[in-house]
Amino acid sequence: MTTPSDRLARFRSELSEAGQALPVEPTLIVVTKFHPDETVRELFDAGQRDFGENRHPEARNKRDGLHEPDAVWHFVGQLQRNKVRQVARYADVLHAVDRAEVIELLETGEGIPTRDVFLQVNLTADAGRGGVSDAEFESLAERAAASEAVRVLGVMAVAPLDQEPAAAFSRVAGYSERLQRIVPDAKSISAGMTADWRAALESGATHLRIGTAITGSRPTSP
Ligand SMILES: *Cc1c(COP(=O)(O)O)cnc(C)c1O
Repeated sequence: MTTPSDRLARFRSELSEAGQALPVEPTLIVVTKFHPDETVRELFDAGQRDFGENRHPEARNKRDGLHEPDAVWHFVGQLQRNKVRQVARYADVLHAVDRAEVIELLETGEGIPTRDVFLQVNLTADAGRGGVSDAEFESLAERAAASEAVRVLGVMAVAPLDQEPAAAFSRVAGYSERLQRIVPDAKSISAGMTADWRAALESGATHLRIGTAITGSRPTSP
């Protein structure tokens, strides 16, 4: 039986092989949602520093349970209105900023440091999937660029199940170019999960969000 740290080591070697020709070394975020604190501890002790979670308050509890100032916590889930400020108090990076309301809540919340964020784009026609629509992308980018509450790192996307990942990720690369016209430094791309990370890397992903390949399959409830 392999352990999460075995799988982390294997994934890291596959990633360094796949990433050899890349201009920047991608950041590996291990998404630990639904897995116990012991898994996070094991991965941290094996050298992993970036962790992803998608729900509040599980994310906060995981971070508090690990209690390591060197760990970087990425909130990759959708940001519900009533949880945005709470999440922003502990999550170092917010990956799913998809509307001006989120930025406004961060600006008007108390005790929230400037946060690194990704603007999530919706690659489907279903607004419920999260992510800004194509039509609203530039206005969100301009809103974020003008705010002192956030530092925009780049764009984030989840490839739709019913599309070729390569086609989906090339659209993400297009959004990245559009964003850089507004925020020149926002070159990062958060894309790529267990099933599609190689395709994401080929389209310029700089932040991979990997769950099951490393943690093992998820228990069905947290
Ligand atoms: C769960 C999750 C992941 C990781 O998914 P795997 O397929 O297990 O690698 C990545 N991104 C987001 C937004 C997630 O919710």
